[in-house]
Amino acid sequence: MKSKTSDDTAFLPEAEITASDVPPGVDRRAFMMRSALFGATAVLTGCAPSKPETAEPPPAAALQVASKVSPDLEVVKKSKAPIMTTLDEFYKVGPGPSSSHTIGPMRITYDFYQRCTKLPADQLAKATALKVHLYGSLSATGKGHGTERAALAGIVGKEPATVDPAFLDDLAANPKQSFPVKLGAKTFNASLEDIVYDAPKGNFPHPNTMTCKLMAGSQVLHELEYYSVGGGFIEWKGYTPPKKGQPKYPYSTMKQLQAHAVANKLSVAQVVLANEIAVSGKTEAEIWAFVDKIHNAMVAIVKTGLKAPTATLPGPIKLKTKAGEVYARSMDDKYEKQRGVGVVAAYALAGSEENARGHLVVTAPTGGSAGVIPALVYALGEGGRKLPVEKIRNGFLAAAAVGYLCKHNATLSGAEGGCQAEIGVASAMGAALIAQAHDFDHQVVANAAESSLQHHLGMTCDPVAGFVQIPCIERCAFGAVKSWTGFMIASNEIPSNRRVDFDTTVDAMALTAKEMNAKYKETSEGGLAVSLVLC
Ligand code: SF4
Repeated sequence: MKSKTSDDTAFLPEAEITASDVPPGVDRRAFMMRSALFGATAVLTGCAPSKPETAEPPPAAALQVASKVSPDLEVVKKSKAPIMTTLDEFYKVGPGPSSSHTIGPMRITYDFYQRCTKLPADQLAKATALKVHLYGSLSATGKGHGTERAALAGIVGKEPATVDPAFLDDLAANPKQSFPVKLGAKTFNASLEDIVYDAPKGNFPHPNTMTCKLMAGSQVLHELEYYSVGGGFIEWKGYTPPKKGQPKYPYSTMKQLQAHAVANKLSVAQVVLANEIAVSGKTEAEIWAFVDKIHNAMVAIVKTGLKAPTATLPGPIKLKTKAGEVYARSMDDKYEKQRGVGVVAAYALAGSEENARGHLVVTAPTGGSAGVIPALVYALGEGGRKLPVEKIRNGFLAAAAVGYLCKHNATLSGAEGGCQAEIGVASAMGAALIAQAHDFDHQVVANAAESSLQHHLGMTCDPVAGFVQIPCIERCAFGAVKSWTGFMIASNEIPSNRRVDFDTTVDAMALTAKEMNAKYKETSEGGLAVSLVLC
């Protein structure tokens, strides 16, 4: 028998818990499941689990198993270094429908194109082609996300934040087009044939792995492996984070952030602003200018989506848009409270449908969830409460803090953590945004975010046909409404009575992500993606 020393690895597979670990008279499978559950609870809460009713002697194995869970989680950041993410890294403008499968790949190929422009002239003189290989989830579901068109746009020198959506629409309508790529004195053509859907399964460093190559005939002149790590963030082999200033109020958990707020009598937004100035080196005016740019982009996205006539979205689902209809009919509702829910849902549908069209969106935190925050921002501003812009600016900062913490301690990627990591995080950010915009203190902001995230735990990612449409579009509407629910509960309960804190729920999300079946991580191999038959 293998003894359960403290060196044993986390969440032992069933085979490693032997019969002699199981107390007499207790079903073996039930014991193991209960052991894991109690142990995980201990890790996540820091509390000793209550004693199981039938297991004698006390399930020491459970605690040993659990005590090793956290360090082995791939989705949990091992380093607890302070958060260094900045607003312009987090809120990114680019084409939908997916931050990880569209904006990320386009940022990657645009980055590679930029690197190639800096290569020595003698190398560039030999160049004949640029090739991109998509692996893992990018290969499995890239067609539904327009990954190949976004990747091509990047290698022909189009920047994600400024690309004309008409370029991508036209490429979808006429996929055989080719485009000149100018590198130094050399010009060659690139087309969708240069974007290769490679192995969907394999031992990749990240589920969204890509390689970009500059070719001279069959010879590789320059090559780099990249990863689209969620939310439009990208990394590459040998990546080191850019040099930044140190945060004024370092934090890697909500608890630490709240401690700074209390010690310095600051709001969550004020802590985030001070750090943003210190880390990015920008002035306060520059930061507000960026926030206003993002705010205005979101408002424009909602308005465009509401005005768009009912039409069929691209792809095999033949899904009809409905934001305008839902808005108009909600406004006719004689019950004011129902009107509010319907209007917020319509705003979210509008933003999400724009994403599905492949038009520009803002990652908050991702493309699939890009309907949630614009809906709330619009509802708090000109589309509803008409709060002063300064209040909404502050809301953006609190929302960013929630997104940063989820990225730092769990994941923002549906391919890593399922939809809890996308819509769940967006909803938590939205709840924090509403609470901060109404000037609630740090505890209400944290509680609102916790409540909204908690009620997305376990949510799977199963986009039908690999398109960010079903369930994604309506899910944004539900996420936005859940943000309001989280805010309403948090702002009306006694804040100190809340039993679950935000950090615990983020840990639970990371644990759930780790244990979630791969079929439910943006592979379109489970759930609705296989249950719904398209005809
Ligand atoms: S189901 Fe959720 S995580 Fe998956 S693509 Fe849609 S919005 Fe993103």
